[in-house]
Amino acid sequence: MKQNSNYDIRKRTDYENIMREFGIEEIDKLQSEIEQDIFFFRRKIVIAHRDFNKILERAKNGLDWAIISGRGPSNDLHIGHLIVFELILELQKKFGCKFFMPLSDDEKYVFRKLKALNNETYKLAIENAIDIFALGFEPDNVHCYLSSETPRIYRLALDFSVNLTYNSIKAALGFSGEENAGTVFYSCVQAAHILQPSVDYNFPVVVPIGLDQDVYMRLTRDVAGKRKITAPASIYVKYLKGLTGGPMSSSIPETCVYIRDDKKTIKKKIMSALTGGRDTLKEQKELGGVPEKCTVFNWFETFFIRDDEELEQIRTQCKNGKLICGKDCKPKLYNLVCEYQDKFTLKRKEVIKNLEKYFDHPIKPEILEQIRCT
Ligand code: SF4
Repeated sequence: MKQNSNYDIRKRTDYENIMREFGIEEIDKLQSEIEQDIFFFRRKIVIAHRDFNKILERAKNGLDWAIISGRGPSNDLHIGHLIVFELILELQKKFGCKFFMPLSDDEKYVFRKLKALNNETYKLAIENAIDIFALGFEPDNVHCYLSSETPRIYRLALDFSVNLTYNSIKAALGFSGEENAGTVFYSCVQAAHILQPSVDYNFPVVVPIGLDQDVYMRLTRDVAGKRKITAPASIYVKYLKGLTGGPMSSSIPETCVYIRDDKKTIKKKIMSALTGGRDTLKEQKELGGVPEKCTVFNWFETFFIRDDEELEQIRTQCKNGKLICGKDCKPKLYNLVCEYQDKFTLKRKEVIKNLEKYFDHPIKPEILEQIRCT
């Protein structure tokens, strides 16, 4: 989804206002038995929702629903991006729901993150999809497509375009009027991505996103209301902290670990991460660390340590001065990241063998050949 920088910065600091204004509910208010089964709910990485209770009600009655989450092709798939896909995997395992994944090369193009749409960008999109499927997705439960190669999406976007005004898009996205026409039309494409499972398969959908991306949900819900389509639900996911302490950003490599970073680079990044440790070893032992301020602890808590007892033990030992950041926690995180990356690399080979099965359209044979030969 589009991430307009000024918009993002403002919105990231404005969560409570957005929630109040747009009827998003805190996840605590969702009476749900999934909390125990799904790590990202239990750990409150999913912080809020809109209408997810309706989806759960469907699930209880054995009715189908789907998850939709896109990926704009780029070279920079990092651990932070994978949280949403790991969450989708958990939801799929529990509910058997379908997963729709548009590869939004069109978005990257109109927002000028890709200079052209050609075979190179096509291949990049497919490779991103392979990386995501390698987390453990099964082809039978996935509908993936390259947005610019899918006439059905263009047709739906065109259909929905009469239900959104230029002024509503401009106001919602904070456009000045200098943007190209593609960025305006892209709101219709996004609505097509989100609503296509409901229109074509009669599956109500849920979209996992960051709160700063809710603007697209509101535009799409507006379209859904006018077209008498079930309004999409959403669940809001907390961001993983950047290793340097601020937000994780693809354009600042030291803030994140890319899924294809080599081990030496991973080590360097993790060993330089900002922690909640004290200035000296003596102080660390006497006063203990501050896990709430520690990016390493945030990575344990948000992603890498699923066992609650183990996490609590680290928290307590840190506070009691029993752990040393560079000797205990950072090497532990490095090992966990490498282990995760190794599993993913193995699974990637299997995905490539079955690649066509994940897609709703044929893959260009020359691209498939290139991918299988590398
Ligand atoms: Fe973070 Fe571990 Fe250092 Fe505590 S000891 S501040 S958890 S790295």
